[in-house]
Amino acid sequence: MPTISLVSLSATTLVGLLLCFVWWRERSNPLIGWWGVGQLLMASGIAFAAASSFVNDQALSAFGQSLMVLSAAISWMAIREFAGRSLNPLLVAVWPCTFIILCASIAVSFDQRLILASTLLGILYLFAAAEFTRQHNERLVARWPAIVLLAVLGLSYLAWMPLTLTMPVREAGLVYASAWMPAVVLIALLGRIALAFVVLAIVKEREEVRQRMFALTDSLTGLPNRRALFDAADALTEEQRFSNGEAMSISVLVFDLDHFKKINDTYGHRLGDQVLKLFSETLLDTLDEDCIVGRLGGEEFAAILPGAGLRAATEAAEDVRLAFAAAATVVEGHEVSGTVSIGVAASNDALCDIGSLFHRADGALYAAKLAGRNRVQSVTPSDPSQFDGWSVETTTPRWFDDRSEAANPMRTRRYRGSVDAA
Ligand code: GH3
Ligand code: MG
Ligand code: MG
Repeated sequence: MPTISLVSLSATTLVGLLLCFVWWRERSNPLIGWWGVGQLLMASGIAFAAASSFVNDQALSAFGQSLMVLSAAISWMAIREFAGRSLNPLLVAVWPCTFIILCASIAVSFDQRLILASTLLGILYLFAAAEFTRQHNERLVARWPAIVLLAVLGLSYLAWMPLTLTMPVREAGLVYASAWMPAVVLIALLGRIALAFVVLAIVKEREEVRQRMFALTDSLTGLPNRRALFDAADALTEEQRFSNGEAMSISVLVFDLDHFKKINDTYGHRLGDQVLKLFSETLLDTLDEDCIVGRLGGEEFAAILPGAGLRAATEAAEDVRLAFAAAATVVEGHEVSGTVSIGVAASNDALCDIGSLFHRADGALYAAKLAGRNRVQSVTPSDPSQFDGWSVETTTPRWFDDRSEAANPMRTRRYRGSVDAA
């Protein structure tokens, strides 16, 4: 038992120091730092409890146990904070204070204090496990091992009560003679070490998810960016592609705001940004929820409409056009009179190449611009070559920078130059 105490003390101290060091290096998430502080407090509690066994001092033992309770309360609070709830020091302090008050009043014997401390620890670890289960809106895989470990740790502390009742320890000086104490101390140590790894994994996973989100989100409008839009197209679910075993229709809408440069030049870039945001809101408000909407770049947007044929897609495009024209007539007191041109392409086969559908919608958009702007132009599925020859001034690939030109036949278009040429 003294060996186990020493191992438990040194391993817990090392884990605490390591976590504090990681937090100090990265300062990315307070959970790591708080968890490290909790481990150092647990190590101090273990040190006082071990010392009390050598000198058989009840007060020293109670102080050590109160530090352990404080450690578990800090860990619980750290997870609450990680889950986005407020950090309340009073909620932390109440646990060791309750322990000390009860020790001074009713839990007078060593076994009663042992039961009290382990029960409080058990409750706190179960609370911590429950706190992780509440984070439904965030898909972090690493929280599942954390929930399991915290629950196991909590339940094993609660198991101290029947063990103490059936095999009492009697006094601090007799802890080392206990038949069951070495086993539970070892289990708790293993749980703490495993939890430290899991806490690091959770924080890293959240960081990765956030970075992935930033890489796939357009910062101005909050819409998926071009890469995210195409990823979403690739990931269209079976449900979105098939109905009763048959492939459904699918449509692509490509939007380009009309004379947007003029809006920027006349009213400034900031108002231009407002118009872009207004358009993204119009898209989200007007199109159905199952549509995949994104900003391709600049004043160009796109939407993929799973299940929509040409007619439905053209109607949806017309709704967007009218809604935007109404919303962008006056923006922040300026007569902007914003409008949008829209190209629509549809396929009866949801398994079709979405890249080529974009290509055709792009051709249709170009035709809409040439025809005078502020209109919807669609490509009929029966004639896929329609507008195919209309792409002009092919320069850099514009859809997916990291994909080959053959896979993504989209090219940069310059309407104004083309109109002039026409
Ligand atoms: P067209 O009707 O032919 O589409 O004309 P246009 O003026 O809309 O097209 P053009 O390609 O000439 O101009 C697009 C402008 O969009 C140029 C660029 O400065 C502006 N722009 C691109 N990204 C942003 C942005 O994030 N914010 C703002 N305010 N302007 C942007
Ligand atoms: Mg443009
Ligand atoms: Mg434009």
